[in-house]
Amino acid sequence: MVEIKKIKPRRSYTGEQWRTNQSNKKRLVKDFNRRCAYCDDYHLYSGGYNSYHVEHFAPKEHFPSLEYTYDNLLYSCPYCNISKSDKWPSEDHSVNITGDIGFLDPCNDDYYDHLKRRDTGEIIYQTNLGEYIYFELKLYLKRHCLIYNLDRIREKQTDLKKEIEKRESVGKNVDKLKSVYEELCVLFCEYFDLFALDSEQ
Ligand SMILES: [Zn+2]
Repeated sequence: MVEIKKIKPRRSYTGEQWRTNQSNKKRLVKDFNRRCAYCDDYHLYSGGYNSYHVEHFAPKEHFPSLEYTYDNLLYSCPYCNISKSDKWPSEDHSVNITGDIGFLDPCNDDYYDHLKRRDTGEIIYQTNLGEYIYFELKLYLKRHCLIYNLDRIREKQTDLKKEIEKRESVGKNVDKLKSVYEELCVLFCEYFDLFALDSEQ
């Protein structure tokens, strides 16, 4: 089992700094490492920056005064953002949990107590509240697991390529490393085909 997100995001600003979604989004993409706050999908696999959303943790439909408050904003994939929609467990923007119902901000530690990930990439819940979030955000969607694995292969490919270049530059034999690199390319294509198939459904 591993953490649901590789890097815990941190907001670099607080309060109401900019009064447009576009201005806030420019900061959010960096603060959230180009990944969905909830499912950790790298934005490259869902159309990139333009397709990702500015998500309002406490929904702006219920709390319009928080529309541009940076502390309430997250960078989110369209799947999590649309699934969460305007759901909120209370009448108060600061009450994000009632019993086992509610949402957690992935910038806070407690998000990671309720949701984890299997080594094979599937997101799993650890508690009743985690279960609520899991189903409300549809974290069971196969795409999250496929993207996690595509990303993992891509990272290994990048590391391996650097190592091959380093060894080649000092005249070392890299035949073995090159064949591993080719295997990773095949694996990436296989996962990508599954991902393409899943995206069509
Ligand atoms: Zn997401």
